[in-house]
Amino acid sequence: QPGGRIPLIAGNWKMNLDHLQSIAFVQKLAWNLKDASHSYSDVEVAIFPPFTDLRSVQTLISADKLELAYGGQDLSAADSGAYTGEISGQFLAKLDCAYVIIGHSERRTMHNETDEVVAAKVAAALKHGLVPVLCVGETAEDLEKFGPSAVPVAQLKAALVGVPSTANIVVAYEPVWAIGSGQAATPEQAENVCAALRTVLAETLSDEAAAATRILYGGSVKSGNIAGFMREPNVDGALVGGASLDLDEFSAIVRFKK
Ligand code: PGA
Repeated sequence: QPGGRIPLIAGNWKMNLDHLQSIAFVQKLAWNLKDASHSYSDVEVAIFPPFTDLRSVQTLISADKLELAYGGQDLSAADSGAYTGEISGQFLAKLDCAYVIIGHSERRTMHNETDEVVAAKVAAALKHGLVPVLCVGETAEDLEKFGPSAVPVAQLKAALVGVPSTANIVVAYEPVWAIGSGQAATPEQAENVCAALRTVLAETLSDEAAAATRILYGGSVKSGNIAGFMREPNVDGALVGGASLDLDEFSAIVRFKK
């Protein structure tokens, strides 16, 4: 990609696969990817299992030296203390997580995560050396009311408050209307919003950060549509939900050919 950005294909498992299933899945996925005649070394692959799977995933990946990154699907803005049910960034860092998803639309809507909460979580992730995969995206209603990029741009600006200009982050543009709907955005739609988000990165962080930061598209990505997204200059990979639970589909997405 332009700027030397290495594409990232990320699988968000959501609340699927328990820790035993995760072991079997990761073993098969690693085998599938290794077995590929075609090299995928130019692509980074990351999986986001449920919290209860992370220790098993860590043990397997480190024991077998698998080239797979992983992370949590959320974290607490706090480090420790009386926060029943929460998981801290330091716990994720201890499990060698590289990434953490922040501000997924399911968290924003079902758990009332505001832009302020999202910004605090981004700060917490950076504090613990985790790369935030910051999700932004508009609903169908937003799209109609405000046009395609207004809401994702506003969400990104709000999340970047206080973020140092050299911070290593990943942005995921996920139109809410495309998530789990089977109706992906078109590559052109994704490109336009991702380009607008890159402009925000340049204005808020720096030109260097804007050039280096990976911006993913997410929402009904499949093996049949990944190549179209990857042809766009401002789309540096995908955040994949449903299709990341299907071994063959996910492997085919990783092995996309432009
Ligand atoms: P989907 O989900 O690929 O199932 O549409 C994407 C996401 O929610 O990250």
